[in-house]
Formats: sequence, structure tokens, C-alpha cells
Amino acid sequence: MKEFKSILEFQKHFNTDEKCRLFLEEQRWGDTPACPFCASTNVKRLKNGKRFQCNEKECRKQFSVTVGTVAENTKIPLTKWFLAMYILSNHSKGISSLQLASWLDVTQKTAWFLNHRIRQMLTDNAPELLSGIVEVDETYVGGRVSNKHVSKRKDAAKFDNKTMVFGAVEREGKVVTKIIPNTTTDSLVTAVIENVEQGTVMITDEHVGYRQLKKLYKHAKVNHSKQQYVKGAAHTNTIEGFWNLLKKQIGGIHHSVSSKHLQRYCDEASYRYNNKQLAQDTRFTSALGNCEGRLKYKQLISKQQ
Ligand SMILES: [Zn+2]
Repeated sequence: MKEFKSILEFQKHFNTDEKCRLFLEEQRWGDTPACPFCASTNVKRLKNGKRFQCNEKECRKQFSVTVGTVAENTKIPLTKWFLAMYILSNHSKGISSLQLASWLDVTQKTAWFLNHRIRQMLTDNAPELLSGIVEVDETYVGGRVSNKHVSKRKDAAKFDNKTMVFGAVEREGKVVTKIIPNTTTDSLVTAVIENVEQGTVMITDEHVGYRQLKKLYKHAKVNHSKQQYVKGAAHTNTIEGFWNLLKKQIGGIHHSVSSKHLQRYCDEASYRYNNKQLAQDTRFTSALGNCEGRLKYKQLISKQQ
């Protein structure tokens, strides 16, 4: 793929729907287009160039490359989808629908829709277990009080409308975030085991919930209440830094996020953090690689195997 030094160059290159469509076809299928309904590659391109016909007797459906992707059935031109994907996959903090609307010259409603759909693509679909030295922490997200560290909260009732997020980050590596229902030992233990490789050096605060894990992990603790934030290698500065990013992103740009949508915002922030070393073009193509309506398409594929 051509390298783009700016949004302007990108926009000049993908200036027609046809160019976008052909690029999407190449990214999605390579040389072998596949039917999104039955996954067969026995398909032919129809004369208008845009649509394909499945040749399987039981299927015989027609489709274009956007069927089964986030851009299926929308009237928004692909040029605007592409531009929105490029902007959103590269902007370190995400942007508001209002801003996106003015950049793309679309209504705010359309921009909101694009923002939500594209956010689904900014997700690591198959994260590996974290290893090495991993900092583990939990925090409340939503509203002002949430900026305090969990260990400093005094009145649990204040946090009724907040959502608890669990996070784990490798030093110099990747982060994962998960909404958890509470900070009981069960919730924390499950979150750690599902996201961090056993035997890993794990650094946490002194939350009692983590104590049970000492047989499975090499566990080091940081005592926040005694101001021991940095004690040699045993610190949680990396995850604290990520929480700051996440909260800025959510608080500064989206104003309020319901707990229903919060996991998606967390996934988006994690995805950006985890792909920060990628070049702009690669970020765009890597996001584009997630454009398929994931479940639906994968279910179809798995039937075939
Ligand atoms: Zn088919």
C-alpha cells in the first residue's frame, strides 16, 4: 500500500468509492473473493463490477464486498467510511461525533453512527495472555470521583453509578481492560486468570482480592496508602498512566459513557495503546482487517470446516 503522509494524501488517494471498494476487496479476500453467506469461493464478479454472484446451488446469492462488514447496508459513501476509519484509527484519543461530522461533512447523527461502528473495529479480537512483568489494577470509571484510586475511596455509596474496570499491562507491552461487576476476590481472580499467563511476575496494590493468586503468580505488592508508589521494580505506574489516558479519553471527549458502552470504549483505548508503535497506514489497514461483522461471518466459516 502507498504510504500516506497526511490525511490530505489519504483523501486524494481514496477519492472514489470504486477505489475504496477495490482496496477493501483486496484486504478482505486477496485474490479469492468469498461469499459472505456460505463462505464458498466459487463466485463470479458481475458485469457492473461491483457485485458478485455465488455459484453454489443452495446459495446463489449476490453480494458486494461490504456485505458482512460494518459498512453493510449504509448509504454513507465508502470514501467517507475510509476517511473516518483513517482518522479514528490514528487519532490517539479518539474524536467526538461533532468533530467527525464537521471533518467529514456529514450530519452529527451519521458521524455518531460511524464512530460507533468503527469503534467495534478498534478491538483486538484474539488477545494473547499477558506475560513478563505485569501490572494489575482496578479503577472506577465515570464522573469526577472516579479519578481517585480505588484504595482511597471511603464511601462505597458514592460509587454507585460508577463502573469498575479491571486492567493489566505488560511493562513495555500490551494492556487489557475488562469491566468487572465488583472487586470481590472472585471477580479479581477470574479477571487475572483470564488475562495474565500463570507464573508471570504480577504487581498489584494491596487489595486483599489478589492474595489468593500467590500460588499461581510471582506476586509483588505496592502499598499506596504508605505512599510507596515506586519501590524499585514493584510499581504500578504503567497501569496508572493507562488509566489516565482512558479517563481523559472518556471524560474529555465523550463526556458521558453509559456502562453499557463502556467496554467498547475501554477496548478502543486499549487497542490504540497496543498499536501505538504502528505506522499510520498500518493502523488503518489493521483496523480495516477487523471490518467483518465478526460473529456472523466466523460462525459461517466454522460451519464449513
Ligand atoms: Zn454463497
